[in-house]
Amino acid sequence: MRPLIIVGNWKMNGSLASNQDWMKSVAQGMESGMPAGRKFVVCPPFPYLQQCGKLIQEQSIAFLSLGAQDVSAQSSGAYTGEASASMLKEMSCQYVIVGHSERRQMHHEADETVAAKALQALDNGMTPIICVGETLDERNSGRAEEVVCGQVAKQVNVLQDRLADCLIAYEPVWAIGTGKVASAQIAQDMHRHIRLQLAEFDEDVASHVGILYGGSVKPDNAVELFAMPDIDGGLVGGASLDAQDFLSICRA
Ligand code: 13P
Repeated sequence: MRPLIIVGNWKMNGSLASNQDWMKSVAQGMESGMPAGRKFVVCPPFPYLQQCGKLIQEQSIAFLSLGAQDVSAQSSGAYTGEASASMLKEMSCQYVIVGHSERRQMHHEADETVAAKALQALDNGMTPIICVGETLDERNSGRAEEVVCGQVAKQVNVLQDRLADCLIAYEPVWAIGTGKVASAQIAQDMHRHIRLQLAEFDEDVASHVGILYGGSVKPDNAVELFAMPDIDGGLVGGASLDAQDFLSICRA
């Protein structure tokens, strides 16, 4: 049985003061108990990882884990502006998002780079959350499955059975930050497709890998999405910035 995992991706938002308020509210909300068999993760920007890790510890938010939004594909050296997996691990990160569409588009990250980043995370004992997803043009031209399966195939080629220790996040680019959520059925169909593709490689890996949905997840659509058999949780952007919305999605 795969656990339901809800990951908040703050993207480039937050401040020392607002992070503190968020953690306090989430600690209070989670204190009253959370549904069993679920995992919760928050991914703040790099500069706030240490602060947020400390706040999670101080507020004793036992349910909440820390994740980063990206990691270098290299282990150390002359890579200005990058953060290595070992550094993130030292900051108490247990998860790392890799290959987010914003990084693929704005920073021209290729599938090979995404796989190298996932390997760095795995080698340092963290769980990579590997993002895949098609653009609106690709969906409208009937190529959604082909594009997503192409992205997944590149990860399978490199990561092989280490995929069992990864999470995949299906984030249709047209649903990110647009308020246009994929219908639960559209999301389920793609998740099923990804799982069948993984099963062609290894049935055991396919049944273990959590596949999260991301793209305009909100408290009012989370219940329907999470009820789908191949949707194992959510990667939540905008709605994760509000502690109460995040808590509602965690309970959905
Ligand atoms: P939104 O939830 O704001 O659409 O963002 C989704 C996302 O990109 C999470 O990684």
